[in-house]
Amino acid sequence: MKYDVLIIGSGPAGLGAAFHLVENRPELTILIIEKNKISSGGLRNDCKQNYTFPIGFPVDIWSEKQAYKYLPIVQKHLMPDIKPKGNLEKYKKRASQSGVRLIEIEQSHVGTDRAVVLIHDLIERLNDLGVKISTEEEVKEVGLKSVCTNKRDIEYKQIILAPGRGGFSFLQHIMDTLEVPYIDNTLDIGIRVEMIADNYSIIEDYYDPKFLFEDKVRTFCTNSGAAYVVKERYDSYFSVNGHSLSNERKRNNLANFAMLKTIRLTDPVASGHEFAAILGLSAMQLGGGLPLMQRVGDFRMGKRSKKETFNLDLYNFKPTLNATPGDLALAIPAKILRDIWKSMKKLDTIVPGVLHPSTIMYYPEIKTYANKPQFIDNYFQAKDGVYLCGDGAGTSRGITAAWCSGIRCAEGILKEYGVEL
Ligand SMILES: Cc1cc2nc3c(=O)[nH]c(=O)nc-3n(C[C@H](O)[C@H](O)[C@H](O)COP(=O)(O)OP(=O)(O)OC[C@H]3O[C@@H](n4cnc5c(N)ncnc54)[C@H](O)[C@@H]3O)c2cc1C
Repeated sequence: MKYDVLIIGSGPAGLGAAFHLVENRPELTILIIEKNKISSGGLRNDCKQNYTFPIGFPVDIWSEKQAYKYLPIVQKHLMPDIKPKGNLEKYKKRASQSGVRLIEIEQSHVGTDRAVVLIHDLIERLNDLGVKISTEEEVKEVGLKSVCTNKRDIEYKQIILAPGRGGFSFLQHIMDTLEVPYIDNTLDIGIRVEMIADNYSIIEDYYDPKFLFEDKVRTFCTNSGAAYVVKERYDSYFSVNGHSLSNERKRNNLANFAMLKTIRLTDPVASGHEFAAILGLSAMQLGGGLPLMQRVGDFRMGKRSKKETFNLDLYNFKPTLNATPGDLALAIPAKILRDIWKSMKKLDTIVPGVLHPSTIMYYPEIKTYANKPQFIDNYFQAKDGVYLCGDGAGTSRGITAAWCSGIRCAEGILKEYGVEL
């Protein structure tokens, strides 16, 4: 079995690469290998699509010009319904008074339930174009011209590895095998904040407001309508996250967003993933194996939250995630907590209400940003014929940027076939 191009992973990065290749060189034989039953990786979660640089783009490897070359192509395939925004001047003015930036972005929201429909449509379109997709097949080893899966050996001329954040260990193993140098020193650590939607009223005017605070703290991934906090399993801990369902679903009048601080580790602590695992584990120990949650009212008084305090009259909504009431200050390193709390207080002067005593803070929300490979060209080629892209390779941090990173690899391959775009 031999293919012109093998694509490992059917997340947005893999799909972006596949569409770009087949639409520009239809005669190429392309196979996407996906270890899960259903295609499309992180597209399934919530599916907020951001179409404004630098959201989702690591700026050390993306320029604004490059991002805007590809974003219209993503838009053409995902056909987003861009959300309207309004009344932002007052928030911008309040933000600038406290040295905070409110970034206006073009965004659409599909919702976890409707994302499945979008995914089926994308896969069908790829099938029609002649791209083969093999699900429930896991790539175990990658050599310079062949791969070994749990089912067979396959030869390739060019390969694009896009295994996503969950494919961290796999990609690390492959980079070690192929002797691709990499670094792993950046991560985001923070909390997920859940509140009555009325207490974060800006969401009526701006679905996912992006505030940038000092000390590398930012708001991230706001959900409302039918919004839930969820937990995701990593090797040794759970990280919290949030998502919401489409407009068609019953609203729960809650909202949630993450408040994240970016940390760049330097010598001698070189590994962001190891640091994340230590923080995640200590949170799990305090939470009896679950994430921690604390009401703002308790936090302000320096008290841990308890089961009982989750039922007081002022604490008037039930958490959407089953987490352990506790004391965040015991679990979060001082520098991170200080910077996040300072930013939360600023946010409360911009959108008064967010620090209502009932607001819940969940911990940990951890985003590890992959091993950053050393690329040999501008197309994310790491070895001759081996391209790495998507969140797993540190070339993106979100759906649209992941798709763009796939296109960038595809352009590298197309160039080999004499197609310059
Ligand atoms: C709960 C949640 C909500 C999110 N919400 C949003 C959002 O609203 N908006 C946004 O922009 N981003 C969101 N994200 C992030 C987004 O999902 C990612 O940025 C994006 O999916 C990255 O795309 P990717 O193609 O790099 O990887 P992924 O989407 O993770 O896809 C990688 C694929 O590779 C497969 N794979 C891995 N290893 C192998 C292997 N060895 N063999 C075969 N297949 C393999 C995986 O099964 C997976 O399907 C969310 C993430 C989570 C977890």
